Amino acid sequence: MGRRLGQHFLFRKSILDRIARAVCVDECPVVIEIGPGKGALTASLLELASKVVAIEVDPYLVHYLRQKFSADIEAGRLELIEGDVLKTDFGALLHPAAGTGSIAGNLPYYITSPILQRIFTSDVVWQRAVFLVQLEVANRLAASPGTRAYGYLSVLTQVHARAGILFEVPRTAFRPPPKVDSAVISLEPRDAATAWNLSDTTGFLTFAATCFRQKRKTLRNNLAPRYGHARVDALPEGRLRAEQLSVAELVALYQRLEAA
Ligand code: SAM
Repeated sequence: MGRRLGQHFLFRKSILDRIARAVCVDECPVVIEIGPGKGALTASLLELASKVVAIEVDPYLVHYLRQKFSADIEAGRLELIEGDVLKTDFGALLHPAAGTGSIAGNLPYYITSPILQRIFTSDVVWQRAVFLVQLEVANRLAASPGTRAYGYLSVLTQVHARAGILFEVPRTAFRPPPKVDSAVISLEPRDAATAWNLSDTTGFLTFAATCFRQKRKTLRNNLAPRYGHARVDALPEGRLRAEQLSVAELVALYQRLEAA
């Protein structure tokens, strides 16, 4: 079993059930599961969701899952997709016509950020996402401004979703145990345009990436190459660092600079 694919399997049933309950808070028609592995979380999800669509890249595991869950597959309650989650069209899986759904997974840690990017930029309609991620990453996703963990990943996430850490999971709950601790994070989507009065979310995120380019530098230094010294010198926030500004404050700054 290759560790290359981030294959650390969670085996504690109480934790798996807790994750499934966090995904299926109320109505739970369809859950997309990323990286089902040997199907431990899949089994807990199947107890609560009407249908699970699971995406697994490792053909050996897909073969194993087909046998283990043959009855659920036959009954149409489980759909297995063999493939790379980063090449999967989420929009097609949770199409509005199929009703809304949620997303879950004990994520392969090496691709956590690209997975989030993909979900945020797809046109998938989702109700909630619950992911087991590296604790340090969970802290970054949910971080408040002014804290050490707050950075571009926090802004990217919080522009698109409300993020909260549900609980931590010790490394001893996995086989083989990973080298890091983990935490379960919950994301509830929000429409960036409405929530932040943003007409150009992609443009704002490019701006935010520039603000955080050199984290220890002031906004003035990070933004001067793009907007010129004269304009950034006149900014009241110029002497602050990006990590001191909330998402709303970064949006306001972006809009001011772009409007001028
Ligand atoms: N959910 C299982 C559990 O909790 O026991 C396994 C989680 S394991 C951390 C990550 C899983 O994601 C592995 O089964 C791995 O094969 C799969 N995986 C890794 N990269 C993937 C990719 N690009 N697309 C889909 N699945 C992937």
